[in-house]
Amino acid sequence: MTKETIHKEVVILGSGPAGLTAAIYAGRANLKPLVVEGPEPGGQLMITTDVDNYPGFAKGILGPELMEQFREQARRFGTEFLVSWVSKADLSQRPFTLETEDHTIKAEALIIASGASAKWLGIPGEAPTPAGLGGNGVSACATCDGFFFKGKPLVVVGGGDTAMEEATFLTKFASGVTVIHRRDALRASKIMQDKAFGNSKIEFIWDTGVEEILGTREAGVTGVRLKNLKTDEERVFPTGGVFIAIGHKPNTDLFRGQLDMDEVGYIKTRERSTATNIPGVFACGDAQDSVYRQAVTAAGTGCMAAIDAERFLDNHPAGTQSGHKETELAAQ
Ligand code: NDP
Repeated sequence: MTKETIHKEVVILGSGPAGLTAAIYAGRANLKPLVVEGPEPGGQLMITTDVDNYPGFAKGILGPELMEQFREQARRFGTEFLVSWVSKADLSQRPFTLETEDHTIKAEALIIASGASAKWLGIPGEAPTPAGLGGNGVSACATCDGFFFKGKPLVVVGGGDTAMEEATFLTKFASGVTVIHRRDALRASKIMQDKAFGNSKIEFIWDTGVEEILGTREAGVTGVRLKNLKTDEERVFPTGGVFIAIGHKPNTDLFRGQLDMDEVGYIKTRERSTATNIPGVFACGDAQDSVYRQAVTAAGTGCMAAIDAERFLDNHPAGTQSGHKETELAAQ
């Protein structure tokens, strides 16, 4: 089967708050952007419940509802959407090329808003079934899977805001939730900590690592093997399910070796801009922000990326070569 080629001025990879804000701005600049969405359309807010800190929603809003608003707004200004998995990216020349199973996508300017995905511990028992118990008692998304654990005791691993949010949410279903954290102090914000400490269904095990997830394919998860990181003492702790909430990793593997990144994989952008080391390629949201990682900051950098892309295209219309030399970066 021959692939269809799509050629666009602006292609945005990712459809979370960063990608869709970039789409709204690029759309309003009459650039008719194409948003290519991967396996998680709408991004991380699609698996969140209440969003209480997005300005403009005084009473809060559900994550998926907020993303539907973003999407409608982007569509209103001429954004097109393509749900497809990009398997290859070639940024060596303009137009930049993204390959999917059915399409070759050419972009005069590319905005990377591919976000971040949940990290895993990499311990025995955690891998997806059939190799492990992933999807059969091990999850990284309480809002997706919490309902399946009605009346069971559950474990949440991690000490950040995600872990507190997951633990608090899971108390709606679980008989009790035990948070297991590798240190003796939480990283989570004060307000999230207070909420968790004030919930009588949440307990904490400190200074402890999870070494293995125990169970069988038939019974699902039955326990975890814990190790006290101060005393090295090991024990089995019974539980009916494990939620891993140890942070996220940027979805940038596609661009490794082409774009400058830090050691974790966050794309490096120039100060006060979304410009990467390749002229015409911009990065925004969780793919480049290892510090703030909020929906509102992602939206903010999405807006910046669209403005940066628009200015770049003004200075380098389609058909002109921008070159990939550092000396040209200043001209963007
Ligand atoms: P964080 O990076 O903030 O926290 C990760 C937690 O997991 C830390 O406590 C860390 O331990 C622990 N951890 C990391 N790796 C391991 C490991 N290999 N083994 C055991 N424990 C590990 O990630 P979050 O996902 O919690 O939060 C990310 C961002 O999203 C933050 O900016 C947060 O504020 C935001 N957020 C906001 C929410 C809200 O406002 N409603 C909800 C959820 C997230 P240690 O502390 O020792 O480093």
